[in-house]
Amino acid sequence: MKLYNTQSRELEHFEPQNKTVRLYVCGITPYDTTHLGHAATYCAFDVLIRFLEYRGATVNYAQNVTDIDDDTIREAPKRGTNWKDLGNYWTAHFMRDMIALNVRPPNHYPRATETIAEIIEFDKALIEKGCAYESGGSVYFHVNAYEKFGQLSHIPREEMLAIANERGNFPDDPKKRAPLDFVLWQAQAPGEPAWDSPWGPGRPGWHIECSAMNYKTFGPTIDIHGGGADLVFPHHECEIAQTVNFTGEDYFAKIWMHAAMVGYEGEKMSKSLGNLVMVSDLLKTYTPDAIRLFLAKHHYRFPWEFVHAELDASRAQCTQLTQAAQAMGGDGNAMDFQYAREHFENALDNDLDSPRAAAVLCEFAASLLEHADARRDVRDAQTWFRRAASILGLRLDTFGPEAHVREGWERHLNRFPTE
Ligand SMILES: [Zn+2]
Repeated sequence: MKLYNTQSRELEHFEPQNKTVRLYVCGITPYDTTHLGHAATYCAFDVLIRFLEYRGATVNYAQNVTDIDDDTIREAPKRGTNWKDLGNYWTAHFMRDMIALNVRPPNHYPRATETIAEIIEFDKALIEKGCAYESGGSVYFHVNAYEKFGQLSHIPREEMLAIANERGNFPDDPKKRAPLDFVLWQAQAPGEPAWDSPWGPGRPGWHIECSAMNYKTFGPTIDIHGGGADLVFPHHECEIAQTVNFTGEDYFAKIWMHAAMVGYEGEKMSKSLGNLVMVSDLLKTYTPDAIRLFLAKHHYRFPWEFVHAELDASRAQCTQLTQAAQAMGGDGNAMDFQYAREHFENALDNDLDSPRAAAVLCEFAASLLEHADARRDVRDAQTWFRRAASILGLRLDTFGPEAHVREGWERHLNRFPTE
């Protein structure tokens, strides 16, 4: 299949057959509820996983949770709680949304706070290799020591600082040698949680958490690294810089895949703008299938706007898909489905073109109903049709998520106790 690689800016051939695909997707920072933008990202990677498996691959999937971060520390006191309880609460909430949407659970769900020892080892090694330095109890990555910085985002060096500053960088930190240097370990601020380290008490920087969790789970390289498009810079750019300097390999992930942002009422859907559409609210009115089909109808790589009426249209289409799955044909000639199958597979082979795959499925459903009316034998066609629908995460006439989806997430959920 072909997948677009953010790093090479090209569609690249990716051969999943008889292979174990190591996939890491950056997870949530749990300080607030899951909105439609999150759902779009994780559902897109869910379709990727399901299609890779359909193509004969085994997928070894890790998704992390950034359970210690500026955001959780800042938000907790505002809500009369502490960062740990806040993180557990919203992680559990996220997992329940994922179960409801029939999103496959990751095989590994590492927490940053369970990876502190590995993060410290990572930081120590980067200092020894000369691309990081200690200053006043903190450790920073020295961007000027790594000339390939920018290889993923392709942002010119002179434009990086302004973007980094909007995304959590503190350019005026007097302990840094250069304003673009980013923190690998930050010295404890008064009242903040801290762990012991060779540089004194502190906590990890955000980017190093993902490099360390990745390395701990998979080793030096992976096949596909994913996340939302807002993570390309600086988060993923920094991850590459850390990981390849640590491992000595010439690459980190073979393919970098990024899910585009979802807009609403002319703006990016984001907490700071207050224009969030919550998954849990949509689930009060729409079936999981309607939401999954609606999401599949947007290509993961291109930004799109949430329009409520489209969700209503998807709901109506799901009704027809279910009717097609259940239609009773007759004993006439068997309905041919090879043509639809080829088109469906070609669509997903082409950089996961789920809108085209969904269109093929909907057209096939209409055709299947006509064939059933004409007393044709539709049983084999329905078997394929159900299989194809499941790649888009659809359940059709089966109520609730797949059993292994629920069980897999609940296994992770046990590590996030809430009252
Ligand atoms: Zn990450």
